[in-house]
Amino acid sequence: MIKALDSSWNEVDCATALGRARPAFAAILERALRGYELGFADGLALAQASGDELLALVKAADELRRRTVGDVLTYVVNRNLNFTNICIVGCSFCGFSRGPRAKDAYFHSTEDLLAKTREAVAAGATEVCIQGGLPRDLDGGYYAGLLRDISAEFPQLHLHAYSPMEISYGVEKTGLSLTEHLISLKQAGIGSIPGTAAEILDDSVREELSPNKLTAKRWIEVIRAAHGLGIPSTSTMMYGHTETPEHWIRHMLLLREIQRETGGFTEFVPLGFIHSKTRLFRKGHARAGSSFEEDLIVHALARLLLNRDIPNLQVSWVKLGFPGALACLQAGANDFSGTLMEESISKAAGADYGESVTPGELRAMIRSIGRIPAERNTTYDTRRLFPEPEGDERLPLERMPVASAGHIPLAAAY
Ligand code: SF4
Repeated sequence: MIKALDSSWNEVDCATALGRARPAFAAILERALRGYELGFADGLALAQASGDELLALVKAADELRRRTVGDVLTYVVNRNLNFTNICIVGCSFCGFSRGPRAKDAYFHSTEDLLAKTREAVAAGATEVCIQGGLPRDLDGGYYAGLLRDISAEFPQLHLHAYSPMEISYGVEKTGLSLTEHLISLKQAGIGSIPGTAAEILDDSVREELSPNKLTAKRWIEVIRAAHGLGIPSTSTMMYGHTETPEHWIRHMLLLREIQRETGGFTEFVPLGFIHSKTRLFRKGHARAGSSFEEDLIVHALARLLLNRDIPNLQVSWVKLGFPGALACLQAGANDFSGTLMEESISKAAGADYGESVTPGELRAMIRSIGRIPAERNTTYDTRRLFPEPEGDERLPLERMPVASAGHIPLAAAY
């Protein structure tokens, strides 16, 4: 893992950084800053960045973020509800799923899920994110039933639920058409869909990672159908495994195309591959997750390629850790994700960055990089802006040792 980049990074402004890059490289960044659309060849040239050009890429992405969405940095107060880890799909990158007879297999009762939801609402949550494995004997009516049970008690709570894979499985289990199934979920209270299970939207990569998972075409079909019914979704990309920079660019450009057609993506979330407890890595078929440079490049590229179409770019602090997340928030991103309160999927794959963060900790970290915190709802309406620090704000120093001196410089993120 990279320990630190050049500690002078914080002192360099965008124009100076562009001046240090090769003219052809700087010209692409200048085009993006002037509002021109970048294409595949531009993205691929930027993805090779290192040294001074990586600095220029990061600074240009940060500048474009500032011009597009300003200095407000958002987060959501939410809780994950992973109702079961039993799954038949067998994705090789997944450390979360279990067979039904595994000692640590679980399927939480609806009463347990309601109890967790009550705790979340008492702690100020405006959203629960509901996802789980795909058990062989699941009743197709379970998906809508759980939404109905939660929304009956918490009608104001936003239910962000079920990946395209789970929605496709619900179609198979209920025998309904995709549209009918989505309508039943909407009637039961679904507010939006996590755009997970996208990994890389290229079937040659998907075949290697998870041959039993839905195809890229089916993922797009589910997303388009949901957006068409007024159900927004996030968009995601998993990187740091077997893919190449060409895959990143094609994936992002495909999402851009879908967004121009539907307008239904609320944000883009790059998700670094957590490798250590996965079959894919143990068998030597994937690299050990992304490097720090790759994290910066992917987030910066996302800002430069998607800026006008998907202006909200989220970091996953669960995958990146707090120092890595803060670095990527200075490389084009503008959203810190959520409090989560409970996180099982990345933890089971080997992530050790924690399962929960308080709103006060998020706000303290946001302020430490000179930005203004705001709590948002799932669809990016501001609930409350925090121009001044409040009493509950403190840096989670035990989870970000390099920050103990106070300011968290981009250069010292690892
Ligand atoms: S990633 Fe999802 S679908 Fe794949 S094995 Fe894990 S829980 Fe199952």
